[in-house]
Amino acid sequence: MTDFTMTTDADGVATITWDVSSKSMNVMSTEAFMALNGLIDQALADGSVKGVIITSGKKDFAGGMDLNVIAQMRAGGAQVIFDGVMQMHHVLRKIERAGMDPKTLKGGKPIVAALPGTALGIGLELPLSCHRIIAADNPKAKIGLPEIMVGIFPGAGGTTRLVRKLGAMAAAPFLLEGKLSDPKSAKSAGIIDEVVVPDDLLKRAKEWVLSATDADLVKAWDAKGYKMPGGAPYHPAGFMTFVGASAMVHGKTMGVYPAAKALLAAVYEGALVPFDTALKIEARHFTSVLMNPSSTAMIRSLFINKEALEKGANRPKVEEMAVRKLGVIGAGMMGAGIAYVAANAGIEVVLIDAAQDAADRGKAHAEGILDKGMKRGKVTAEKKADVLGRITATTDYAALSGVDLVVEAVFENPKIKAEVTAKVEAAVGPDCIYATNTSTLPITGLAAASGRPEQFIGIHFFSPVDKMMLVEIIRGKATGDRAVAKALDFVRQIRKTPIVVNDARFFYANRCIIPYINEGIRMVAEGVEPALVENAAKLVGMPLGPLQLVDETSIDLGVKIAKATKAAMGSDYPDEAVDKVLFWMADEGRLGKKANAGFYAYSDKGERLGLWDGLEAKYPLDKAQPSLTDVQHRLLFAQVLEAVRALEEGVLTDIREGDVGAILGWGFAPWSGGPFSWLDMIGAPRAVDICRGLTAQFGPRFQAPALLREMAEKGQTFYDRFAGEKAAA
Ligand code: NAD
Repeated sequence: MTDFTMTTDADGVATITWDVSSKSMNVMSTEAFMALNGLIDQALADGSVKGVIITSGKKDFAGGMDLNVIAQMRAGGAQVIFDGVMQMHHVLRKIERAGMDPKTLKGGKPIVAALPGTALGIGLELPLSCHRIIAADNPKAKIGLPEIMVGIFPGAGGTTRLVRKLGAMAAAPFLLEGKLSDPKSAKSAGIIDEVVVPDDLLKRAKEWVLSATDADLVKAWDAKGYKMPGGAPYHPAGFMTFVGASAMVHGKTMGVYPAAKALLAAVYEGALVPFDTALKIEARHFTSVLMNPSSTAMIRSLFINKEALEKGANRPKVEEMAVRKLGVIGAGMMGAGIAYVAANAGIEVVLIDAAQDAADRGKAHAEGILDKGMKRGKVTAEKKADVLGRITATTDYAALSGVDLVVEAVFENPKIKAEVTAKVEAAVGPDCIYATNTSTLPITGLAAASGRPEQFIGIHFFSPVDKMMLVEIIRGKATGDRAVAKALDFVRQIRKTPIVVNDARFFYANRCIIPYINEGIRMVAEGVEPALVENAAKLVGMPLGPLQLVDETSIDLGVKIAKATKAAMGSDYPDEAVDKVLFWMADEGRLGKKANAGFYAYSDKGERLGLWDGLEAKYPLDKAQPSLTDVQHRLLFAQVLEAVRALEEGVLTDIREGDVGAILGWGFAPWSGGPFSWLDMIGAPRAVDICRGLTAQFGPRFQAPALLREMAEKGQTFYDRFAGEKAAA
């Protein structure tokens, strides 16, 4: 069956229905686009057809372009991409002109898009080329152009058409931030033309087709005297918009996202020329973005591989193990967050703490999140009552009867954790899986307190639990497949992204992020300008500089981790220089953001002001400051070498998890697609070379791991070398 089919009714209205039989959501492929082209030709040529409705056979219109196709397009090279994109423009332009006389603009056939639900990416670009967009009043539907979120931009005319329809300023949030709207908001924004009750969708579309006049078919930009809403670049108002937009985009992206720059260029340059030339400009910039390795890496990590992991790419083949009733022990910051996300996903939760008021405070935390949602109009009173109704806050372990998963989130203390394990196992059934949310204690050691170590696992959430999308699942030595499957099914239920790693100090994410923070602190101690450290990090795409990050997570936590690590590592401990700074800061009472004093200074209200000037007094600036690139290399290699070591040691077993986990877990430069994608971009030989230089200057922590050296010798990339294994994408 083809993805598009056409029927014509007795009144001469043709309906083209999009329905990809193999998928629950329509996505566009190259072949399907050509099939659509054929049907449009047919409808335009057929004298008995008065007009066309383009709609969907599914509850939604379309999710967008098949990103696998986009990822593959790059292989053909720039000319092939450009020609393919221009071909798409040609088809969409044909829909827009619909056979009208180019001079008189008369005689075209009306073509209307009728959207039953969600319409994203090409699923909105196609409607934008139609003469009218009518959407069903479906509040769950999402309308928008989210391409920028995966490192590209709308390249099938969506950029050029939306800017000409709304003006650059009004189009900016939809193009630059990928903002999505429900149909009613999309109508108020001017993206779509009409919203109707769902049952009337096709009826209203047909009515419009039969009543449309020649003038109704002429797009504003094809009519004489068109002026861009808000003004083109050389109009005084337009000038302000474009200057501001450029500054805003650079401020937000630090110039590291090629798609944001290219989008802005396509909009600016496109606004200065006629419509068809603007499409060509859009195609050129789109081609340059697709040819940039950053877009390939972002699509691969943030879309293809993220989705594969969410669908259970590494799930052991055991029966479905969805959680019906969850126990959470410890109702502090993490436990309360875990209880909330589970209850929000429809799971019944028993939330236990040592004292009733602590358990109640945990439940109140969930209430607080729901109240915020209500203020923003995202949560109804009914939903709030439902979610809270699913959380039982108690001190009574007997309430755990019937739970099939327990997540422990009590104090980070092995003795307390062991007591809790024993108490829980005495209260739950024999099949219950037991997970600990520890962030630093090895799972295998904690499992010693369990009578069922094969049912004992780590499920490591990140803070704040309701916002952070990554969950790290840790297999202890004895952990069995059922426990892994249970953890993965749970993460899927709460709609987060899992990675599965083996047990080792700090697992994966913390193992990489701690050296990043430490490298930043080390540089301060060496006399590197702290602002250089922070800005170097941000200019390479890290969301927070290392000093800001340690302020946010707190200096005393850093001290605690340093002491525990030192105790465990003994004479191998490498971070004395860092500890000197950290311990001094702690002694000074500068515990970070929560204390309103850390590496940064803060106002009484807790606003971050600037780097604390006391730092410079204690650690005078070196006269010879390093280059920006040198600082960036130190900060990036501190992280990526740890990722490579984690892979080498078998902590990571799948580079896809390494890349996705890095971006979602600690915000590793998303433009790069993750540490392994970044190393592939610069190439193993260059990476080894940089390591050699860093090692000579700063010490053995920068030595290239054997795996990387071997790859450099053999000319391999991570995604080639490990493609045959799990990282197929
Ligand atoms: P927290 O101090 O906010 O909460 C711990 C809770 O456990 C408290 O409410 C305490 O009353 C309760 N508790 C202590 N002993 C108990 C017992 N015997 N029985 C029942 N309840 C008991 O700590 P948190 O930040 O929520 O951390 C909890 C766990 O999660 C720790 O293992 C921590 O390492 C881990 N973790 C923390 C973070 C983070 O960013 N805070 C991130 C990931 C993992």
